[in-house]
Amino acid sequence: MAFYSEEEQTEDYLFKIVLIGDSAVGKSNLLARFARDEFYPNSKSTIGVEFQTQKMVIDRKEIKAQIWDTAGQERFRAVTSAYYRGAVGALVVYDISRRQTFDSIGRWLNELHTHSDMNVVTILVGNKSDLKDAREVSTAEGKALAETQGLFFMETSALDSSNVSTAFQTVVKEIYNILSRKVF
Ligand code: GDP
Ligand code: MG
Repeated sequence: MAFYSEEEQTEDYLFKIVLIGDSAVGKSNLLARFARDEFYPNSKSTIGVEFQTQKMVIDRKEIKAQIWDTAGQERFRAVTSAYYRGAVGALVVYDISRRQTFDSIGRWLNELHTHSDMNVVTILVGNKSDLKDAREVSTAEGKALAETQGLFFMETSALDSSNVSTAFQTVVKEIYNILSRKVF
């Protein structure tokens, strides 16, 4: 099992969660907002941390969410299998103001399922919900896709913070729930 290392069995959990989706949809800013409450108006796709660890407490247990960012690899569709290895959660992100990024979601899901466990807890994230006038993908379309693929769904804005923590927390809580239902 990739959920946690042996010495952490009783109290501590470490969950690897990956961010995927086309370039410039806001992956790095979602992570910056969640982990540091920061936003970069003109961020470059190549800038970003490899991963960031965020502590959360559920059921009085300390959970470390280790969230991985592609740091630009996705521009060349060259996200490596190492990136996905051991992931138990994924945020698959598109930009609600660029339909093309929504059309790519199927390919990202295929890639995710090729390189990781089919049971990886996945949320479809429509980012940049603040760009109301530029919207190209309706909420209903996002929701419908998530339903057919069996994914959680949320629209977020890394700019105005809306739903950012909730999106990450939804994934972490579901991983924890699955894990705590299992008897080892
Ligand atoms: P990444 O390539 O997916 O990591 O995307 P970035 O996080 O680097 O963001 C790409 C661009 O979109 C940057 O100029 C960000 O400032 C901008 N951006 C990211 N999230 C949002 C958002 O929620 N709303 C708006 N309006 N812009 C955003
Ligand atoms: Mg980035």
